[in-house]
Order: sequence, then C-alpha cells, then structure tokens
Amino acid sequence: MRLTLRTLSVSFVFLLILTFALSAQLKQDAPPAAPILGFIPAHAATERQRESAFQSIPSSEKARQWHRTFTAEPHPAASERNNQLADFVADEWRKQGWEDVTLRRYDVLHSRPRSISLEMVAPIQFTASLREDAYDIDPDTKNPAVSGAYFGYSASGDVTAELVYAHSGNPEDYDLLRKNGISVKGKIVLVRYSNPYSYRGFKALTAEREGAAALLIYSDPAEDGSPHGKVFPDGPWGPESHIQRGAITYDYIVPGDPTTPGWASVPGAKHIAPEEARSLPKIPALPLSWRGAKPLLENMNGPEAPKDWQGALPITYRFTGAVKVHVKIDMDTSMQPYTVVEARIRGSELPDEWILLGNHRDAWAYGGVDPSSGTASMMELTRSLGELKQRGTRPRRTIVVCSWDGEEYALTGSTEWGEQFADELKKKLVAYLNVDESVAGAATTAGPEGLSFSPSAVASLAPMLVEASKDVRAPSGKSLYEAWRATAKRDTNASTLPLDSALVETRIGSGSDHTVFLNHLGRPVINLGFTGDYGVYHSMYDDHYWMAHIGDPTFEYHVALTRIWGVVALRLANADLLPFDFGFNAAALEQFLRELEQKNKIEPANLKLKRLHARIAEFEKTGNVLREAVVCDLDSSSASLEKIQDMNDQLLQVESNWLDPAGIPGRPWFQHLLYSSRYTYAHLEFPGLTEAVEKRDWKLAGEQAALLEKAVEKNTKLLKSAKSSWEKTK
Ligand SMILES: [Zn+2]
Repeated sequence: MRLTLRTLSVSFVFLLILTFALSAQLKQDAPPAAPILGFIPAHAATERQRESAFQSIPSSEKARQWHRTFTAEPHPAASERNNQLADFVADEWRKQGWEDVTLRRYDVLHSRPRSISLEMVAPIQFTASLREDAYDIDPDTKNPAVSGAYFGYSASGDVTAELVYAHSGNPEDYDLLRKNGISVKGKIVLVRYSNPYSYRGFKALTAEREGAAALLIYSDPAEDGSPHGKVFPDGPWGPESHIQRGAITYDYIVPGDPTTPGWASVPGAKHIAPEEARSLPKIPALPLSWRGAKPLLENMNGPEAPKDWQGALPITYRFTGAVKVHVKIDMDTSMQPYTVVEARIRGSELPDEWILLGNHRDAWAYGGVDPSSGTASMMELTRSLGELKQRGTRPRRTIVVCSWDGEEYALTGSTEWGEQFADELKKKLVAYLNVDESVAGAATTAGPEGLSFSPSAVASLAPMLVEASKDVRAPSGKSLYEAWRATAKRDTNASTLPLDSALVETRIGSGSDHTVFLNHLGRPVINLGFTGDYGVYHSMYDDHYWMAHIGDPTFEYHVALTRIWGVVALRLANADLLPFDFGFNAAALEQFLRELEQKNKIEPANLKLKRLHARIAEFEKTGNVLREAVVCDLDSSSASLEKIQDMNDQLLQVESNWLDPAGIPGRPWFQHLLYSSRYTYAHLEFPGLTEAVEKRDWKLAGEQAALLEKAVEKNTKLLKSAKSSWEKTK
C-alpha cells in the first residue's frame, strides 16, 4: 500500500517537473540563469541544470542505511572489519559507476594494546575498570569487540609512582606547579581534556619534556559532560564512564607512518627505526573516564589547586598528596597494512585536472560521528555523482575520491598517498575537499536555527563556497547560506548577521586528512561539516544510536552535507575559469598580519613589517584588478576557452608558490608559508614568522618575513603577467 502511494506521488511530481521544464523551454523570453563564479553565461545555465539533477538524488533513508552499515561494528585501522569495509567501499564504487577503483596498500608502523591496567595502591586500593558501561536501550554498547581504554602510540611501561594533578597539561600549568614547589620528575601526571580543544599529543610531549614517568588524561564533566545538558543515552553529552580514546602521535612535527617521515610507505621503501622517529612518544599514557579519575583526585590531600583548575566533580581538586598509582601498559607496536581506496570519474575535457574528495574510514570504536557520518555523506555523494555519469553527464575535470585509512593514528593513509603521488598532485590537483565528521552535533538540542554549518577553506576559495551555499537547502527549509548566517550570529552572540566575507573560517589547523595536501603539497583545501552539542567524541557511545536518536534522527543534515559537497565539487570540476579569488585571499593575509602584530605588540625597532604590508596590498590590488578584467570578459562571453584555460594554468600556480621547500623552522615537512598548525592542532598563520616572533627571535623573524615578502611578490608578478597576456590574446 505504501509503495503504491509513493510511486503515484513520485510520478505526479515527475509529471509536474516535466510540464514545468517544457513550458520553461518553450517560453521565448525566459530570464538568463543566475551567474556562477567562473562560468560563462551559457555554461552557467547548463551547470544549474546539472546541479539540480544532482541535488535531487541523495536520500536521507539511504544515508541512514550507509551509516548503519559503517557503524555496525568497531572498525579501527588495521582491524579485520576496517579492511572488510575497504573492500565494501571498492565494490560499491564499482557498482555506482566509478572508474579505476584501486586499493592502495601501505605497510606502516601501527600500535594497539596487548594489556593495560591502572590501580591506586595508596592511600587506598582501587582498580579502574577502563571500560564503558552498557545500556539496554543501545545493544551496540554490549558488543565485546569494543576496546577498552588506550592511546595509539603510547609507549609501553610499568610504573608505580606518586600522582600529581596538572590541570590541562599545558606548559603554563607545569610552571604553576613549579611556583608551588612541585616537580613532576619521575611522577605520574593526571591531566584533563581541555576546552578549547588541545590535542592530546601535545599534552604527552609536554609531560615527556617535564620528565614525568607516565601520563593519564581524563574527561572532566566540565568539558563534555552533565553540566552541558543530558548525557547519553538521553542526550548528546558524555556519561560518567565514557572514555576519549585517541592517538598521542607527534604528527604536528611530521604526520604519516612514523618510520617513513616525508616519503611513502610503499613496498621496498626505507623505514627508520622506531627509536629514531620524531613523531613517536616515549611516555606511557592512558585515557580515563571521570569515573576512573575521581577516586584518584578525591584521595589527594595536598595543597588545594587554584579556582580555574577546579573541575565539575563535587570534590576539591588538589595538586598532590598521598596518592600512589600503578600503571601498566603493554602495547603491540608492529607493522600492519593500511588500505586507501581510490576511484575516479574521468573528466571529459580536462582529465589531468583533479578535484579530490576524501573521508577517513577508520574509527576508534563505531565512529557514529567520527568518521562514519562523513562516510555516509560520502557514499551518498559518490552514488549521486555516479548516477549523473551513468546518465551521460561527465564532469569536465576528473573527480577523484579516496577512503582514507589510519587517519586516527597519524593522518597516515592520506599522508602516505599524498607522498606517493606528490609530483602528480602538485601538477594536477585543483583542490581537495575533505569531510571528516559531516554531522558532529545534535539536531535534537540545537534549537530552531539548527546545527551550525562550520566549514573552513583557504581564503582564495571562500567566496565560491559562500556562493554555492546559496543554492543548497538546509534541513530548516532555509537556504544553507541563510541558515549559516543565522547560526553564525547565534554562536557569536552578535546583534547583526555576519557579512559574507566573515562567514568562512579561513584559518586552518591540522587534525584531519587535508593536512598533506595543504601543508606539504601546497594545494587548496576546503573542510566541510555541521557542528553542535557533542560530548561522546572517540568513545563507544559515538555510535549509530547516538546519531539516529540524538544527532541527526532524520539524516537530513547528512544529505545537506552531501549536497553542498557535491555542488562545490561540480562547480570546481566544470568551471570555465577556476573560481579562485586572490583579492580576497590578500585581504585575509593582511588581517592575519595585523593580528600577529597586535597580539605580540611588535615594535618596528625589533621587526620591520612595513614592506610585507606593502607587498600584500599590492597583491590585493592586483588580484582585484585581474578579477574585474576577467569576470567582465566571461560575462560577455568574449574570451575563448583556450584563453581561459591559459589563465587557469597560471591561477593553479599561485598556491604552489606559497611553498618553501626548506619547510618551516624545525618542521621541514610543513612547507606552506601561510598555513600550519600549532602543536595543539590549533591553526597557525605565517607559521615560521609567528613562531619566531613568539620566541622573540628577531633575527629569524626578519628572515621569515623576507621569505613571505618574496612569495607574495612572486604571486603578484604572476597575476600581473596573467592579466597582461589575458589582455593581449583574443
Ligand atoms: Zn575523524
């Protein structure tokens, strides 16, 4: 019965669309299609038809099914299940009509627990369970295949020592301990996950540098638990036993397989000894739930910690006193295969220009949000793009898609793949569009405006991303653009809606698979996703139940993400002129530079930045003039496609020119002069310059500023010559 009704209504809608399309075609004076950045008017009309055909394909019911499939079992990197899912993805992509489906295997140094225990031996005896509680309402929480507490790449060790509480485990926390006469040398340090997020691998390196014997990191409810709202399974926040697993790799120094820093782990590759790897921690470390940490904290009897060190547990947090702990960690650190699945739809006109789409497959447990929400959105995207191709609509440029592996360990799969194909990618990659978590928030607690759309992008692509959002519908019924502005206003407590120029986050940190493409290969990147209330990150409760009952019960956000991802991909793949905006790019650089000066109170006596400001101003002017000239010719359709393609070749050069092959000081793998990440994963602009300024190393800062001046000048020259050859040719 339901089936018949559905068929009937679908045919009725189809008839309506057909009638409408016919009458539109017959109408002589139909208004021209709205313009799209980078398209000549005739092609913009075709592109709009292609996009509306694309946008009608993704289905929330299918997204739900993909999500259930990927979250049916825990699937960490190197597990049998994650490898089965690689085969599954490859099979599905073949069925969807994708071409050149290939499994790329990398043998890399992996890390998993053999046995782990934690007990308090004084003043009382207590053994932590290191497991999460099961709930009847969610049978997945009873699956014995879910791991207990561990950190990827923790060192093995057997330590019994006094416990010290060190707040968030940042350098200034240890300074405060020192001021209070407390050393952590040879002791076990207990710290909490912190808000704003600070990558656990930074806490590990800091504890290691301070000479601690072991590190425990626990989830205080102040960060992601009951003070924020209802906890799982009644709400999105973390319950008492939830454990945030994760890696503690020092991949902010160099990501990927720790034994092949800077080159790919392909068969026959040289591997360095693990002891030589700069990205491997030497400290044993372990995550804890707050239930596991509470007995340790409440049995301390030393001096009281300051107010901002107090968490949300009903106890007095103290620096030290009386608590002795025994930690035993036995890790199996051995070579294991990771699999990247790759496929493409070959471009009809420009097969050697690539738009790359990607999402990682591996999860700490079920990966309800991280990453299987992104995987479900990706599988709907590949199904929809595959269907367009089957109907005979190929993109002009090649669209490549990858299912990455081992992202959670050290961004490993994408890094190895990027290193393997570095030369080709530097020439062919137009942009990489990354989705890690597509829905990292609870629609059920988000209020009337809904979840926040929170993409980040290199500044040159920000305007085209804003434009694309106007043509996608958000689950609230508004356009994604309107929903984006409304949630941005809400989230910043602003009294007015933000300007378009302020919508896209153009500061890009690390912590996902875009890193190799941006920071190592100098290619433009965009990250897409929705965010909101979410307190079960990397725990067992980040699962299908969470998503289907709390996160996105209708799966409409999954589909909205599929749509914006696909529209951006199609525009980049089909544009006549690549929609880079270097005037906007320059304006963002000027803002970064002003922030750097203000934050660090730079005196001209120490560091002269006048010339860099002038170079950026010149770059901005040149970018704007070029855009005006080219857009005008595009709108009047007076430029030949050959001429436009010549321009594209030059525009593609700009991002490459931001690379310095020597890398930033101390981190040669990170070669981008504008973007890197801090050791906490936080964004870091002008990395070499900023780090030198923060160290008050004015000589180095001067050298770094000169490098930037040179790069900006080179790109200004490039745009100027592109403009003059544009004006010379027909
Ligand atoms: Zn992820």
